[in-house]
Amino acid sequence: MNTIKLVAEGTTEVYGYACGACQMIFNASNRDIADRCCLCTSCGKPLSDPPGHSSRHRECDVVLRRAERERARRAHYDLAQIPKDAEVLGQHDYAAQRLSAPVYCEALLSPFGAMEADHDGYFSCVSDLRAHCERWEIATPAWVFACDVVPLAFDAEAVLEMSTAELNEGAASEAGLHAPDLQRVLDEFAKAMQIPDTWTPDFDRVVVLATQATPEAPGCP
Ligand SMILES: [Zn+2]
Ligand SMILES: [Zn+2]
Repeated sequence: MNTIKLVAEGTTEVYGYACGACQMIFNASNRDIADRCCLCTSCGKPLSDPPGHSSRHRECDVVLRRAERERARRAHYDLAQIPKDAEVLGQHDYAAQRLSAPVYCEALLSPFGAMEADHDGYFSCVSDLRAHCERWEIATPAWVFACDVVPLAFDAEAVLEMSTAELNEGAASEAGLHAPDLQRVLDEFAKAMQIPDTWTPDFDRVVVLATQATPEAPGCP
């Protein structure tokens, strides 16, 4: 924004550009980046709080995220938008693969945008998803992602890092020496908890729900 040309003293040689707003310097080949510096990447208007600012106005960011989420949600109503390389499963085949057959679909909202209808996207089975849609009068998606069962695990390194974040510099490396011992304890703890399955979406496998002739999916186990 308001780009300043930087010329070596006594010559005409341009060695770089500076942003007129935050004075950040860019090399000679990046004039376009200097021009865009301190301008919102969404609306193109000046950002109010350089330097160290984010690349978008907060309001523009909200609008963009909402649009992205809406696009992701809508894709689930269109069979043509199933990812090309994904393995496509019928809901019964998927349910038959294992006892617990959770599915994942980007958060579904009721047409009224009711907060209660907002959802993290995980459903314990297809029937659970259908019940959610019925309750909030949302059309059932045409396809959803399959899930992988991933046992809950705790990461010793992450725990130690968090626990020492505010302490003196040596604390993290000192504590890190005991990471393998802590990991053993955490693994035993996770096993002893015997919590039900936990899941993660498998974006390479898709479960199709839209086929008209398909009878209702079996109930939750
Ligand atoms: Zn700038
Ligand atoms: Zn903006």
